[in-house]
Amino acid sequence: MSFLHDLLDLIVPETCAGCGRGGTALCGTCAVPLTLDPRPAPLPVRPPGVRCWTVADYAGNVRKVINAHKEQGRTTLTRPLAAALTRALKASLPPPAVPAQPTPPPSDRELPPLRPGQIPPRDTPPTTPTEGLIRKPSKTSGQGTRSRRVVTGELTGSNLIHVIPVPSARRAVRRRGDDPLLNVARTAVRTLTNEGLPLVLTTALRQTRPVADQAALSRTERVANVKGALTAAHPLDGARVIVVDDIVTTGATLTEAVCTLHRAGAHVLAAATIAATTRTT
Ligand SMILES: [Zn+2]
Repeated sequence: MSFLHDLLDLIVPETCAGCGRGGTALCGTCAVPLTLDPRPAPLPVRPPGVRCWTVADYAGNVRKVINAHKEQGRTTLTRPLAAALTRALKASLPPPAVPAQPTPPPSDRELPPLRPGQIPPRDTPPTTPTEGLIRKPSKTSGQGTRSRRVVTGELTGSNLIHVIPVPSARRAVRRRGDDPLLNVARTAVRTLTNEGLPLVLTTALRQTRPVADQAALSRTERVANVKGALTAAHPLDGARVIVVDDIVTTGATLTEAVCTLHRAGAHVLAAATIAATTRTT
């Protein structure tokens, strides 16, 4: 389906998913709310011990943009939505997990400054970008059944943080042929790992049953609707986790996700979303 949408994007002139203006998938005006500074989302249903960071208000044109990406397969919106989630994710990281700059090796730090025209010594190690932080999981890592888990990379250190998306409703994924939130989360994590941050996308949550559309439900009904609707695909003993979703409304789904991950042994650090509604009922 996404291929068809991509094809249509080429044939049919694009219009802004927010305001309908022609010539662009997202005009500058409608993009502004997605570039705001991240902030904690006020949640009537609070996940235990977890703060949720978000960027935009889920209202007006932002709501149209997110729904066009999710429901209409407007894949050209993945990048700007991922940029917003990237900033929310970055804000949600604990301070020790954010290395300001790669630390140069001691031999570099101890070298005296070169005089003009001086040739550096031959044994000076070359300065290379931080590419070694993420590595592919080894086939011989000997983790038994856990080696089947869907992990796109693995950190060599102990400060790895798993970014775990809340799964989209099964029916929506089947209808569209892909998972829009997963695509946004994948792009956001790739951006941050390219900056050297110790993140890995881990699809550890599964839906156990269909849930009703949360939009028409009250806060109490939402909690009941998602209760027990998620399960962890594998144990997460001691794993440090940030949960991501596209939007957060009451916090009921996020709370269910956090509690499910806690039961699987994870240490959930925070949550991050693109947008949050101000609805409190
Ligand atoms: Zn617009």
